[in-house]
Amino acid sequence: MDLKCKKMNCKFNNSCACMSKAININKLCECATFEKSNNLDKKQHQDISRDMFEVAPEIHPFRHNKNLSIECSAECLFNEHGICKANGISVMNGKNSGVCITNIEP
Ligand code: SF4
Ligand code: SF4
Repeated sequence: MDLKCKKMNCKFNNSCACMSKAININKLCECATFEKSNNLDKKQHQDISRDMFEVAPEIHPFRHNKNLSIECSAECLFNEHGICKANGISVMNGKNSGVCITNIEP
């Protein structure tokens, strides 16, 4: 599973890779595993409102996490009995959490 996540202030995010063993995407395609980090590494900062432009984040050299399992409750072509079967997903920076934008309505 190739997961690219731009929710930089999540404690599992490391340069756009997700370090969690498993994640859970809810009905609204939001990542329910998101937990705000209280101690962000400098490379994890991406404050668009302050800087007025988006600074390209560092990208982790190795994003493929074979063992990452994604449970998902969203209606999606890639959802097979609650498990995501996509080869990879992109998670964007939503207001409250990461949001899966690979979602395709069936
Ligand atoms: S928001 Fe979800 S996908 Fe992104 S790093 Fe956090 S746990 Fe992983
Ligand atoms: S691609 Fe579809 S099945 Fe996979 S996590 Fe995103 S919404 Fe869920």
